Amino acid sequence: MAATVKFKMPTDLKECPHKTEFPPLTAWDYEVSINVGKQKKEFRVFKGLLTYYSSYFAAALNGSFKEGVTQVVELEEDKPEVFEAFKRWMYNRRLRDQDPTPSWLKSTKYHQFLCEVFVFGDMRGIPGLKNMAIDQLHRATAESWVVPNDAIKYVYDNTPESSALRSFILCIYRSTLASVKAFMEHGKDHLTIDFIFDLLNEVDAQGGWKGMSQLSWARMDRCQWHDHSSPGEKLPPTSKDDATA
Ligand SMILES: [Zn+2]
Repeated sequence: MAATVKFKMPTDLKECPHKTEFPPLTAWDYEVSINVGKQKKEFRVFKGLLTYYSSYFAAALNGSFKEGVTQVVELEEDKPEVFEAFKRWMYNRRLRDQDPTPSWLKSTKYHQFLCEVFVFGDMRGIPGLKNMAIDQLHRATAESWVVPNDAIKYVYDNTPESSALRSFILCIYRSTLASVKAFMEHGKDHLTIDFIFDLLNEVDAQGGWKGMSQLSWARMDRCQWHDHSSPGEKLPPTSKDDATA
């Protein structure tokens, strides 16, 4: 991974043909409360939006569970800033208000944030949010030409073996690094044994290190890491009413 001067992201990248559609206007129905984190930060969100995008919220708010009765969901283990990103994505398909700056794109904090958004999307059944997190992570790595070293432990601690996020992280290492030496130059403190095993396996399967160029990495097809089953809930919230009208 040799640094290139003034790299420009190609503007003609292939669009994902399975982007999450916006829901019908009837999804803006009435607000429910989601209390997030230990500090129970309250978010008021339209129920129709939550149940359209997320199979988790659809089950919780439409079912006979406590949440279905009270219309309040407690997410004690989640982070408010991650839920905020989910809310922003539902409304305008962005995770943050500002476009990330070059220094933000290569920051450990930003990579960690994107991984947390992905894990939240996975836990809460929101395929479109996971895809957005992957796209932004791919963009961050391609544009700043860094491997997300510090995210490895978090990813391996918080995802199942079949996770697309694991597959993404492995792919960037095996594709863009050119040798064992290049891999070792990144240090070892951030590694896990499972990651090293998976990586060795994949490097072996592809016949050695690839040392892919920054442009080739930028042009990788993101759909290989996407979950195209979105949105989370297939039926819009009012479809039952429509059927009986
Ligand atoms: Zn796709």
